[in-house]
Amino acid sequence: MPTLFTKIINREIPAKILFETDSVLAFQDIHPQAPHHVLIVPKREIPTINDLDRETAPLIGELFLAAKELAARFGVAESGYRVVMNCNQDGGQTVFHLHLHFLAGRALTWPPG
Ligand code: AMP
Repeated sequence: MPTLFTKIINREIPAKILFETDSVLAFQDIHPQAPHHVLIVPKREIPTINDLDRETAPLIGELFLAAKELAARFGVAESGYRVVMNCNQDGGQTVFHLHLHFLAGRALTWPPG
């Protein structure tokens, strides 16, 4: 069964796509928690951080390079932004296809709830 995000990657479910490479897709979160809330996902299905290994770990770098690109595009590289990756129930993960949340456009409180 393809994940929800694979369906977005395959254009079977609509999303506002903001960035794409051979290995990564970035699209607007459907329930934004900040003026800019983007999900950056590897095209390869990896359920959680716990499933990463030496072969797939370089994809994490690709996710961060996409975040850097988005920050420049939104003009928030200097003012700041947050990237978050949730893992499993206590981490607040609801979609089991690895993804980096990119949040920007307001002052973000710390620690999060
Ligand atoms: P997480 O709770 O870390 O697994 O994050 C999952 C995120 O996916 C949430 O912020 C949701 O708002 C977002 N989401 C769920 N369905 C969609 C969708 N169809 N398009 C875009 N974002 C979605």
